Amino acid sequence: MESDPGPHLISQESDLPGRGRPAVPRAIAMEILLEAGHRCAVCGESTPLERAHIIPWRTVKEHTADNLICLCANCHQRADSENWGESTLREYKRNPWIRRRFDSADNTGPVAKVELTIDMELKNFDETQQLWLRHALASFLNINPSSVKITSLREGSVKITVEVPQKAKEELLEAHEKNRPELARYFKPLDLVAVKELQSEEHSVAKQERKSSSWEDREDNTIYKVVINHEEQYSIWPAHRENPLGWRDAGKSGVKQECLDYIKEVWTDMRPLSLRRQEEKSSKERNEARSENAN
Ligand SMILES: [Zn+2]
Repeated sequence: MESDPGPHLISQESDLPGRGRPAVPRAIAMEILLEAGHRCAVCGESTPLERAHIIPWRTVKEHTADNLICLCANCHQRADSENWGESTLREYKRNPWIRRRFDSADNTGPVAKVELTIDMELKNFDETQQLWLRHALASFLNINPSSVKITSLREGSVKITVEVPQKAKEELLEAHEKNRPELARYFKPLDLVAVKELQSEEHSVAKQERKSSSWEDREDNTIYKVVINHEEQYSIWPAHRENPLGWRDAGKSGVKQECLDYIKEVWTDMRPLSLRRQEEKSSKERNEARSENAN
């Protein structure tokens, strides 16, 4: 095998042909890098990476994806000097470090959503690009590519929502914030221009609650419940929220209008209970006084 260095194997510039040999075509370079998850197929080292011919170039005189394997400089040299041979290298190619490591890994656990902006038109962001993005992210974050899910794509540069494990999300946001050069390198040739944390489901609910606390603000689909206080005054309250202090369920829930209709029906006496009682008491006293006078 001959040395065929090139950091991350992907830019055409780094694919300068050596010793009269043509450069590895970009599509093949990408394929090799993808199958190895941007890591040495043997040890998992991520940089610098080289392409090694399984059957030596001097024999085959061509670059094919089938005959190339992604190795770090160190493993490449060892493979040469220790004469690992075709079958060993084929085995590493078939079952690279990334797969050995992650096949057994537990992919469960909390996930987070992150929005990435790629400077590219949506129509050009095809399946290959999507695969590339997932693998670039997984490699950069040292996670299993299968735990990176593209959940939505939007026009306008390409905005991609991906789901990654919670911990990986923090690492990604930090890398982007600190403008770490590795991040760009992993994504290349994709141009990652923005990384934004998306609110988790829980947060969105909380946000919605804050909005709907001002009921008149907007037409909403919130399910309300009718609540009643110690003065037997009625009000409505979002059904999924805990009752405000001093209020209890009146036994009716539904969309806002239904609840308001119910209240109109049952709340016939608008006076607070204390006032009603007081007025009832005084009217009773008046009646008693009247009847006493009558006697
Ligand atoms: Zn290695």
